[in-house]
Amino acid sequence: MTERLYYTDARLTEFTARVLEVAGDRVYLDRTAFYPTSGGQLFDVGTLGDARVVDVVDEKERIAHVLEKPARFSPNDELKARVDWTRRFDHMQQHTGQHLLSAVFEELFGHKTVSVHFGDESSTLDLDVASLPKDRALKAERRANEIVFENRPVTVTFEDAASATGLRKAADRTGEIRIVEIEGIDRSACGGTHVRGTGEIGPVVVRRIEKYKQSTRVEFLCGWRALARARADFDALSTIAGSLTTSIDEVPALVSAQAAHLKEAETDARKRGEELAKYQARERCDAAVPDSNGVRRIVETAPSMDPLRAMAQAISALPKAIYVGTVASPPGIVFAASADSGVNAGELLKSALGANGGRGGGSPRVAQGTVPDAAALQRVIELLH
Ligand SMILES: [Zn+2]
Repeated sequence: MTERLYYTDARLTEFTARVLEVAGDRVYLDRTAFYPTSGGQLFDVGTLGDARVVDVVDEKERIAHVLEKPARFSPNDELKARVDWTRRFDHMQQHTGQHLLSAVFEELFGHKTVSVHFGDESSTLDLDVASLPKDRALKAERRANEIVFENRPVTVTFEDAASATGLRKAADRTGEIRIVEIEGIDRSACGGTHVRGTGEIGPVVVRRIEKYKQSTRVEFLCGWRALARARADFDALSTIAGSLTTSIDEVPALVSAQAAHLKEAETDARKRGEELAKYQARERCDAAVPDSNGVRRIVETAPSMDPLRAMAQAISALPKAIYVGTVASPPGIVFAASADSGVNAGELLKSALGANGGRGGGSPRVAQGTVPDAAALQRVIELLH
């Protein structure tokens, strides 16, 4: 049985304890201030003697301290232990902030929290609603921060589950339960570590809101994390604003204006490309020598399919012309024939590809496909004559 010192003192970071048992890299003590992963809250890290604690596991009766390397301790050793306060306090801020935010969502809108998750980067709570309008999230965020600024006491009591009243969620165990109370707004059965007053939660910021199964997932950041995120957001926005030579407040309007501008420019460039292909197609046809039926044949190779497709389209619109464009790698072909050429491009290319392990097809005017290798490409070209 390990005595859980964090139940009564969440700020205790240095303590001494006696080793009860050692099993490989796991050490069991008579008492500990190390919080094991449970109730959604992540484990503490720190040191036992000169060994690093890299995980803490709740084994119900006992708590296992998992060390970086196999332990060199023996039963009855007295150890000095230290919990990493930065990580612990961060967890306390997120965890108490979650109690507050869940209570506020319930107080304002009757939305119940059905599950919570505390991550290394951000935390989430799931509300029992299919969707959450942004203005509700912002009202809850504002209310939570009001209570932070009121610096209401957060206290821990031990009560009997049968007689404990006013709990946000009914306790799922019997006998003595640990209740964490935020004055005037929340009473929750919880074994986690919490701050002493709402002021210590620091700013509460709601971030992403997304649909998750039947509920709505609300991402939030509290305290130092909220500050770090605000700093990172400002730096990122400043970089973007700098590259646009504008102020960060002008960035959203400028970016959407530039996106519209880019779209226009792309449409314009495509039209010009098509126009250019028409001129080039005419030039190529004029330069080609017609066969006995008066059909001119243009053959070319390019590094990519795009310019070949534009040329195929343009040549298919000219009288009595056939076009074969190829790409060496990956081996591909585009084949086009004008309406009066006597050739159905789609059918002819499809059967040539089919005979050579290739795939593709198209309309009677323009078709394209791919083949497994250069030899197959050569055979397809020969079949198109
Ligand atoms: Zn809690």
